[in-house]
Amino acid sequence: MESVAEQFLKKLEYMKNKYAKKMLLTKKSEAEYENPDKEMCDIFNRRVGNLNVADGYNCEKCKNRGGFMRLSENGNPVFHACTCMNARDMIKNLKSSGLADYITKYSFENYIATEPWQEELKKSAMDFVNDTENNWFFVGGQSGAGKTHICTAITAEFLRQGKKAYYMLWRDEATKIKSLAAEGEKYEKAIFKLKTINVLYIDDLFKMGKDQSGKVQRPTTADINLAFELINYRYNKKNLITVISSERNISEIMEIDEAIGGRIFELSSKKNYAVNISNNLSKNYRRKAVRVI
Ligand SMILES: [Zn+2]
Repeated sequence: MESVAEQFLKKLEYMKNKYAKKMLLTKKSEAEYENPDKEMCDIFNRRVGNLNVADGYNCEKCKNRGGFMRLSENGNPVFHACTCMNARDMIKNLKSSGLADYITKYSFENYIATEPWQEELKKSAMDFVNDTENNWFFVGGQSGAGKTHICTAITAEFLRQGKKAYYMLWRDEATKIKSLAAEGEKYEKAIFKLKTINVLYIDDLFKMGKDQSGKVQRPTTADINLAFELINYRYNKKNLITVISSERNISEIMEIDEAIGGRIFELSSKKNYAVNISNNLSKNYRRKAVRVI
């Protein structure tokens, strides 16, 4: 893919050609212009761009062109990116992260900690996002205890810090990737982003469907292989951040596969970012609204 700088270099070439044509049309020689490069910059800076169409962000300063052309000290036209490009990058990042719909709902501010275990979970999550070292965060156990909420808040904070992040809902994404297993290149492409993205949030790791008798199925060999490929790759690249939530706690994951559980445990417990919420029905938000009689 072209970088913003490459796109603008192309635009610059285009402007030069357009300018040359204009000179021909008006039958003026280059010498008749006081400073052709300066004029070219002015033409560029008067243009109205359309970056806002893609991201909905309107910038009065650069009129949505994304930057300005100015003459450098030695008289060459140089492109300067507008400050709005930071905001545009973040919007793009958020959209491709898969979290756009949840980000305002599942914030740290909206996570109301009324019980000590909730305070602890929130504190651990906030320490994690402020940690300058790249670590892993794991929260397991108890369905409906707000694990997705806290992990989304973590991921959103990393997006705000300018990191690239991706939300992987395990069951959906694993099904998609496993279906590509026989198609080498497509499979590699699908898993590559998950392996290499700066921040990966795996929601509901090893969440399985129920079989015909209503029993929750065990992860298959294909599930375990996929999880291992992903976890092991990220484990070996020390600059990647991984956030994992699961209804299974660490020892249950270890029972499924020791290598996977061991790696998650090692990197998340290093600084106390491994949290197991014990099974207790009162911790289930979804049940809380229902009076148990
Ligand atoms: Zn701008």
